[in-house]
Order: sequence, then structure tokens, then C-alpha cells
Amino acid sequence: MSRYWSALVRELKPYVPGEQPRIPDLVKLNTNENPYGPSPRALAAIAAEAGDDLRLYPDPEATALRETLARYHGVRPEQVFVGNGSDEVLAHAFAALLKHERPLLFPDITYSFYPVYCRLFGIGFEAVPLDEGFGLRTADYVRQAGAIILPNPNAPTGVALPRAEIEALLRVQPDVPVVIDEAYVDFGGESAIPLIAKHPNLLVVQTMSKSRALAGLRVGYAIGDAALIEGLVRVKDSFNSYPLARTSQAGAIASVEDDAYFQDRRAAVIASRTRMEAELRRLGFEVLPSAANFVFARHPEHEGATLAKALRERAVLVRHFAAPRISDHLRITVGTDRQINRLIAALEEIL
Ligand code: PMP
Repeated sequence: MSRYWSALVRELKPYVPGEQPRIPDLVKLNTNENPYGPSPRALAAIAAEAGDDLRLYPDPEATALRETLARYHGVRPEQVFVGNGSDEVLAHAFAALLKHERPLLFPDITYSFYPVYCRLFGIGFEAVPLDEGFGLRTADYVRQAGAIILPNPNAPTGVALPRAEIEALLRVQPDVPVVIDEAYVDFGGESAIPLIAKHPNLLVVQTMSKSRALAGLRVGYAIGDAALIEGLVRVKDSFNSYPLARTSQAGAIASVEDDAYFQDRRAAVIASRTRMEAELRRLGFEVLPSAANFVFARHPEHEGATLAKALRERAVLVRHFAAPRISDHLRITVGTDRQINRLIAALEEIL
């Protein structure tokens, strides 16, 4: 700790991302990346952009990308905001929309970046417990609140909410901003984007990091009423008006345009998830029903930390959270067939 730190920095407990180690022949199932590569068309577009033009600033408004996303999702470009990964989009949403007199509500357990942003931006929050089976009851959010943020599917549980439940919540909470974080929606969830036309308090956040296999490019976006989006733009322009690199804008556009590749790869991940769940159950794991590209599982006879360590010794990386209630669980990203075989073989050796 430096004596020059501000009081704010002294108090911060930053988010701890999953490891990105360089271990040869590692089966990396710890950070929910896509096991397949990005669209070849996206790679070609990135390579084409990585030339002399990099001396020029990118389009600060990412107009072409926003137009492409607007067409894809059936909205207007003014309803689309883009940023460096959905983490940055979420940061701007927290700053622009979620600070009120009353607390921000989000589930306990959920994406652990939310309380980090709350502390950074001085936002009061209340974490609303999930039910016994790690389900999220929207009825728990029908009370006085400053704002609400829900990931759907939730992380790290992978459990999804039907769109109708989100719609019912929006109907009874018309006065508070509601953010739905859909980082994993393409793997089996129902997007809330169709609800935007009727609900000007709804912001939907998506990412290209998971279903589009572009985590390294850092592209996330939000869709909502144009007035909500304008608030995010104000925050962005008070922070960094060129948030997206030229290569990121070009690659993201090409990825959205290659829908055949996108559909094919996400179907492959969903099929592998079914197989992975079945194999884990065969080994005695209790596995939550997942609508994401990961599964959340525990073995009744083995501690989560011990299993994660034993897997790491066999060059298989999974995520273990030391948090209360979930310390016995492992979050395991869906891999390729070969990676799943390595995971299962390692577990057979350990159990
Ligand atoms: N939301 C959730 C629920 C996540 O799990 C993640 C990935 N860690 C993100 C948002 C952020 O993803 P990215 O910044 O790569 O778009």
C-alpha cells in the first residue's frame, strides 16, 4: 500500500479474474471462453484492419458496428451502445443508471463484479439471496429499489429465467432501471431484447466474448431505449471517447455478419454441454441445469477446493469460488470433445 493512495483506493476490493496461466497442453475450463476459434471472416477483417490505418483514431461512435448490431437485433442504431467488453459497458451502466437514493438490487450469488462497481461508484446495494436450489425469484425484486441488475442466465450457476418472468417484473417496476446482463444468453436463454420496445427502463447487455469466441477482442454492447443509451454515451465521453479499437470494430462487424458460423458453433457448445453434464452425473456429481457455456456442479463426497487442486495438477483448470454456500461447487466451462475427455479421465483418476 502506498501512502499516496486515495481513501477510495485503500478501501477497494477489486474483482479477481480467473487465471490465464501459460501451462503447456492445458485444458482451460476456468473462464468460460469459447473452445472454438472466432469466425474466420472476423479474423480476416481484423487482419485487414491491422495496417497503416492504425495510426488513425477509430470511429468514436463505432457507427458501422452499431448499425450492424441494430440490424441484427431489430432495433435502431441510437438504441445500441458498444464498449470494451461488457465489463466496461456494465461500468458505464452502473455510473449512468444505477446510482439512486435507494439500493441497487442483485442476486446473491451472482457475477462478483457488481459489488466491485458499487464500491467504486459509491452505489448502495442489497444482495438478494437465491432460493435453496440456486433459483432466482423475480418476486423478491418487487419492492422499493433504486435499480435492479440480473444476469440471465445467472453466473456462476448457469440457471436461466424465462422472458415472461422478466416482463412481469418490468411491468411492476416501471420506475426503476432494470439491467439484464445476457453474457451467456446465446447458449439456451431467452433474450429480453424484444421487451425493450415496451419498457423504456430496460437495458440489455450482451458480449462477444462467449458465444462469438472474441474474448480477446473485448467487445460488449447494450441495447435499450435511446434515452437510456444517451446516458451511457455521456459517461463514455467523460471517460474515454475512443473505447473500441479499429480492429475490434472491424472484427465484431464481420462476426455478426457470419451468422452461419455463429449458429453452428453455439449449437456445438450446447451439444457438448449435454454430454459433459451426463458424464459428470455418471461420476456422481450433482449438476445444476445450465443454459450457459459452463456447468455448476458439486460432488457430495469431495470438497470443491480439493477437486480443483487435483485437476490443476493434471493440467485441467476449472473455477472454484471460496465464497460461502458455493465453496463445494466447481464451475466448469464447456470444452471441445477432446477437452471433455481429458476432464473426465482426470476426474476418474481422482475420485
Ligand atoms: N457478465 C457476466 C455475467 C460475466 O460472467 C462476464 C464474464 N466474466 C461478463 C459480464 C464480462 O464479459 P466481457 O467483459 O468479456 O464482455
